[in-house]
Amino acid sequence: MKQLRNTVIRAGLEALSRSGAHHLLRPIFAGVGIIFMLHHVRPSPDAAFQPNRHLEIEPEFLRATLQHLRALDIDIVTIDEVHRRLSQGEFERRFACFTADDGYRDNRDFALPVMREFDAPLTVYVASDFAEGTGRLWWVALERVIAAASSVEVPTGDGVTRFDTSTPTAKQAAFGRLHDWLHALPGEHDQRREMSALCARHGVDEAAIARELCLSWDELKAFANDPLVTIGAHTVTHCNLAKQREETAASEMADSRARIEAALQRPVLHLAYPYGNRGAAGPREFALAKSQGFKTAVTTRPGMIYPESTGHLTALQRVSLNGNYQQEHLLPALTSGAATAVWNGFRRIDAA
Ligand SMILES: [Zn+2]
Repeated sequence: MKQLRNTVIRAGLEALSRSGAHHLLRPIFAGVGIIFMLHHVRPSPDAAFQPNRHLEIEPEFLRATLQHLRALDIDIVTIDEVHRRLSQGEFERRFACFTADDGYRDNRDFALPVMREFDAPLTVYVASDFAEGTGRLWWVALERVIAAASSVEVPTGDGVTRFDTSTPTAKQAAFGRLHDWLHALPGEHDQRREMSALCARHGVDEAAIARELCLSWDELKAFANDPLVTIGAHTVTHCNLAKQREETAASEMADSRARIEAALQRPVLHLAYPYGNRGAAGPREFALAKSQGFKTAVTTRPGMIYPESTGHLTALQRVSLNGNYQQEHLLPALTSGAATAVWNGFRRIDAA
């Protein structure tokens, strides 16, 4: 599904860019603002097998995006300012807000220096177990298992399915299948068990990944002190909230917030739903975030911000700055809102 979505948006972006149709659509779909979603920002690894490439951009593409926004005279604002403008209906000037999920160390090392060149703020949503060094980034673990292996076996039904992972193409195909298989397991617990077993069989140190990639509490303290940085919550374990019982979903939100507030000694007022798509965050989660007093919460549903987003402050849509389409010539179509409008069937708000 993710691949399909990327392909559709990518095709839309290319077609829109070539046709110039985004110029016509901009007044209708550019909205009042745009919240960009980032994950990793770092120089591209020189590997043929990069199944999580959609989750990273290079610093140079971030710089090009900021330059593009500055050229359009778009304000680059904090998530607090997004909340203020939406709450007060202040839409004279268009805005862009940059957000990054998970709390990766490269956000500090590569994103922040570029943001600083433009005096542009950045919000980072932290999963508290990742900062603790105990969380599981299973999509990275799966990538490492497949990268190292020439074949991978997993239990399916009453037997075992073997995946060829001997070439980059085979690895890519196996990653897609195994990603879907893990995603479809009934509970987070099953996913964790199967992933741990895979890592054990293939010698991947799953527990070390969070410590390797994510900012620790000590690092976050210094990072959060930067005037350009806002820290938001991203749950405790980075679970799919919609798959949890309501009490668990509620405590995942509340406990991550409490842990971050205790560690950083500052209020946490904003939330990002892990995975953030329709299957991971819906009306129940939007209501929970609202009842817990989060000022805003962001999804990964693609879309711009419109005046009517004011009624959906805990279901705000974002635009992914995605490693699969980091080309400057696509930026005008991206910021016109035309590409996400095509994906959404020309519906502006997706909060149901
Ligand atoms: Zn995340």
